[in-house]
Amino acid sequence: MNWQYDVPLRRLHTFGVDVRASKYAVVHSVGELAECVRQMQGEPLRLLGGGSNILLTGDVETPLLHVCIPGRQVEGPYGNDELLVWAGAGENWHKFVQWCLQQDLGGLENLSLIPGSVGAAPIQNIGAYGVELAEVFDHLEALDLQTGQLLVMDRQDCAFGYRDSFFKRAGLGRFAITKVFFRLRARDHRIRCDYGAIRDTLKDMGVDKPSIQEVAQAVIRIRQSKLPDPAELGNAGSFFKNPEVSAEQAQCLREAYPQMPQYPQPDGRVKVPAGWLIEQCGWKGYREGDAGCYEKQALVLVNYGYATGADILHLAQRITASVQERFGIVIAPEVNIW
Ligand SMILES: Cc1cc2nc3c(=O)[nH]c(=O)nc-3n(C[C@H](O)[C@H](O)[C@H](O)COP(=O)(O)OP(=O)(O)OC[C@H]3O[C@@H](n4cnc5c(N)ncnc54)[C@H](O)[C@@H]3O)c2cc1C
Repeated sequence: MNWQYDVPLRRLHTFGVDVRASKYAVVHSVGELAECVRQMQGEPLRLLGGGSNILLTGDVETPLLHVCIPGRQVEGPYGNDELLVWAGAGENWHKFVQWCLQQDLGGLENLSLIPGSVGAAPIQNIGAYGVELAEVFDHLEALDLQTGQLLVMDRQDCAFGYRDSFFKRAGLGRFAITKVFFRLRARDHRIRCDYGAIRDTLKDMGVDKPSIQEVAQAVIRIRQSKLPDPAELGNAGSFFKNPEVSAEQAQCLREAYPQMPQYPQPDGRVKVPAGWLIEQCGWKGYREGDAGCYEKQALVLVNYGYATGADILHLAQRITASVQERFGIVIAPEVNIW
């Protein structure tokens, strides 16, 4: 194993915080990963993909493995209309989506331009514009970091939820995902443009009956206009998850704040946009040193240059406290805090 020591991480994660890894290695294959796990003899490891969903609050002292396992392939037919397609954990998510679209494979178009790797996508069941990974997920392969065994896990094993999965709960830190399999449509595409923003953008593009490629183009346009590019401004996308409240609490909140957007969920609970709550508390565009709340989208915390992870975490905690004080709602981070 080619370990490197005292490695700067600033360019290896999208918040761009200046911290270092004591011990770091890149793994390019399942064999290398297994060899590394064998050498570590059960000692803890941390895994890194594209670094677009982590906030580093200090140097990483636990050995860090950068999962760069490549590969992607159409495996074969799956029923009448679908194909089984896989990608290695180290593949860039957006490039994989583009590759699928080039072959007219449908299902991932609404998830265009989400940063990061294929291997991390199931961890928080990535989602955007009305679609979640779980909808097109078939199964994955993962290495158990304690036993060194390679396992196959299906949708049930992964227990996907809203920005959540088994890997964020009971399986936290235990498995390295090596390969993900998807069921994608090869014909009769299901166009998902329930989101007003997609419909409006398609209209601006002069598109009446959109193809999956045009939906992807619309999503890319919207994202580029709303979200900061990590190459220019450090961030990890939405910092907080949208909270859910009981139907009774939602009713009380509606009476007190008639403008509050609310989205009833199938289980009777009601989702409230965290960005709206944060904006109402006056944080949108706020800046404290180099840590800030993005001016175009209050859900996104940003690093204007030299913020530390602790600065960003401190701001996140102040935002959380003020939302709780004003609305009685606790917002939780979507980002993994190390
Ligand atoms: C501008 C921007 C926009 C974003 N928009 C969205 C969005 O619309 N929807 C959305 O859901 N997310 C969004 N995100 C968050 C992020 O892109 C996703 O969560 C992405 O899947 C993270 O992938 P990554 O490879 O960068 O993971 P990392 O940040 O490297 O890791 C995230 C977590 O996964 C673990 N991990 C990484 N690789 C593996 C592996 N192979 N096996 C096991 N564990 C692993 C890490 O240890 C860590 O705990 C956005 C982020 C940014 C910066």
